[in-house]
Order: sequence, then C-alpha cells, then structure tokens
Amino acid sequence: MNDQENFETLAVRTQIERTQFLEHSTPLYLTSSFVFEDAEDMRASFAEEKQRNIYSRFTNPNTSEFVEKVCKMEGAESGYAFATGMSAVFSTFAALLNAGDHIVSSRSVFGSTHSMFTKFLPKWNIETSYFKINEVDKIESLIQPNTKILYAESPTNPAVDILDLEVLGQIAKKYNLLLIIDNCFATPYLQNPIKFGADLVIHSATKLIDGQGRVLGGVTVGRADLIREIYLFSRNTGPALSPFNAWVLSKSLETLAVRVDKHCDNAFKVAKFLENHKSTNLVKYPFLPSHPQYQIAKKQMKLGGNVVAFEVKGGIQAGRDFLNRIRLCSLSANLGDTRTIVTHPASTTHSKLSEADRLETGITDGLVRISVGLENVDDIINDLEQALGN
Ligand SMILES: *Cc1c(COP(=O)(O)O)cnc(C)c1O
Repeated sequence: MNDQENFETLAVRTQIERTQFLEHSTPLYLTSSFVFEDAEDMRASFAEEKQRNIYSRFTNPNTSEFVEKVCKMEGAESGYAFATGMSAVFSTFAALLNAGDHIVSSRSVFGSTHSMFTKFLPKWNIETSYFKINEVDKIESLIQPNTKILYAESPTNPAVDILDLEVLGQIAKKYNLLLIIDNCFATPYLQNPIKFGADLVIHSATKLIDGQGRVLGGVTVGRADLIREIYLFSRNTGPALSPFNAWVLSKSLETLAVRVDKHCDNAFKVAKFLENHKSTNLVKYPFLPSHPQYQIAKKQMKLGGNVVAFEVKGGIQAGRDFLNRIRLCSLSANLGDTRTIVTHPASTTHSKLSEADRLETGITDGLVRISVGLENVDDIINDLEQALGN
C-alpha cells in the first residue's frame, strides 16, 4: 500500500485526471475507441511510445482507475481488469503457462477454478496436483521439474479454512514457482498476499468489491513483468471488463473499508451465536479462537471476513430443512452482498461430488455457508434462530 495515504483515503481519493468540465465524481467513459491527433500520434501510440487509451479492449479510463485503486490497496506494481473473476483466473493461467507445464494447487478452490484445472487445462497437457488444507507439508513432494505455479485461496470456499500464506510464499521462493493467490474472500482490505510473497493476486470483484450484488468483474494484480504477459494475452483474446462495470466497481472500492468492517462485525456476532446454539456443530469463522487455523488467520488477516460455515446437526436433510425455514436471508448462489445469503453446498454447488470428495474439502452433509450481509445483525440472528428451531 502507498506509504503516503491510508487505505480509506486512497480508496476515496485515487482517481483519473479530470476533464475540462472539472467534474468531482469520475465520469463514465462509454466509448469503444479513442481518437488520435494525427498520423504520428497514431504511430507512436501503437508503438507504445506513449501511454494512452487506444481501444477499450486494451484499456479505458474507467478500467484504469479501478485497476490503479486495487494495485494501491494490494501493494502491487500493475494489474489488468476482467469481465468476471473466472476470466481473471483463466486469462492469468493461459497467459503464463505453456503446454506441458504443471500446477500445484490447494484442493479447496472455487468450483469453476477446479473445473478449469480438471476439464480444460488438460486439453493443453497442463496437469494439476492437489494438496489438502492440512497437507501443506506435502506440497514440496508434489513439485515436479515442470511445475510453474503454486495456487491457493484463503479463506477457502465454502469451508472457511485458512492457509498460511507466509509458508506458501517460502515454498514458492525456494522452488522458483509463481505464487498466485485468489484473495476474493478476504478483499484487499483484510489481507495483502503480496506481503507474504505472492507474485500475483486475483479477485472476483463480483463479491465484496462490488458488495451490492450488481455487477460481475475480476482483476489480477502483481508483478509488472507478469501483468505485461497477461495484458498482451487479454488485449488480443478479449476478456476485458466493461467501462460501466469498472465505474461501478471503482465507486464500490470507495466504501469497501466501511462495508467490510461492518460485514466482519456482523459475521463475528453470527458466528458467536451459532457456536452457542445446541443444534449446530463445528462453527467455523477465522477469528473465532476455536477455528483450527485461528493463529494463522490472526497473523495474515485484519478481520475474519464475512463468511461463516457451520454444520446443522442431522445431516443432509437437516441442512435442507434449515434452508426451507429461512425467511429473511436469501437462498442464492452469490456471496459478499449487502444481503445475507445462506447456501447448503452438499445439496447444491457440490452435489455432483461423491461424499468422499466432498469431505476432502471439508463439505460435510450438514454444512451451511452464510455470507453475512449488512442487515441489522439482530434480525439476521433472529432468522437463523427460528430456522434452527429447537
Ligand atoms: C466467485 C468466485 C470466483 C469467480 O468469480 P466470478 O466473478 O463469478 O467469475 C473465483 N474465486 C472465488 C474464490 C470466488 O468466490
């Protein structure tokens, strides 16, 4: 992060240059291309002798402002913004890997990222080896001569486990691997993986960065030489973020700190309530001292995030019954919204996995994931309480 300004200040004050109208809020630049002064300006722009906007698939003032803010927040040199979190993940891997390269990844990654590893990257002879959350000491044995990337998310989805980013950073350095962290659950406000040795950080901006369930977006930030490769790949293959979504997301970053503070405060209270309820098992929230990786969470995160996982006693049916009794909270596939969202992974997002595969990523039959929102926390807790029954 910038030494001169604190997080909240740069979130609010980072902006592109004003136009001749001296507008206070950044305008929306809905333009697919930009004009040149003359032939020489056009030549020099294409030759990259000057930094300027040419075409909005490459750069646009709104996407540049959004990227610059995320870079400052993450302490990154450079970045590129994408239409979705998944286009950020895919383009980052596609830009940096060659056929025959190998990835070592945490098994607990976002569902579509796992599908990319298992169904699509093998088409280019790129294979992935996995380590489980409690197998960080096995990572070194998975590394091969052709391993190029070490990949992880922390906190994980949906089980809210924590991986030690410092340890991952040390392994990546020792074996000269690129460490790439999907920092979506933490946001740039709660955790900065570059400090622990990450080369690149990816966000699905769809989640807490937008924070209001409106737009899709993604961003990759980190080492300038790697971002240059990602930029060249993306400018030619077309996964760019739209100017409108960039404008929304750039505004959203202005309120990220206050929103996430409140999300975390509500989530902690929800976690405490669930921990003391007789119909629940195994409440997992990174900043509850009972969390298995509590010390690591405290070391690398500012607060515990907005996601709480817990188990309803009674297995799959009890989990489904709990969802059916929910009144205020939403049953929805998103997270990081102002609205509290409750999901039951075993019967929905992860229903196609075998029970053994589910258990590998900590998804027990009764596991419920709550993305705690910004409603009054008493109302959230009342809803959960009536849904848990007696
Ligand atoms: C949602 C999510 C993604 C994918 O983001 P989209 O914007 O939905 O494409 C990637 N990683 C994590 C951890 C996510 O939660």
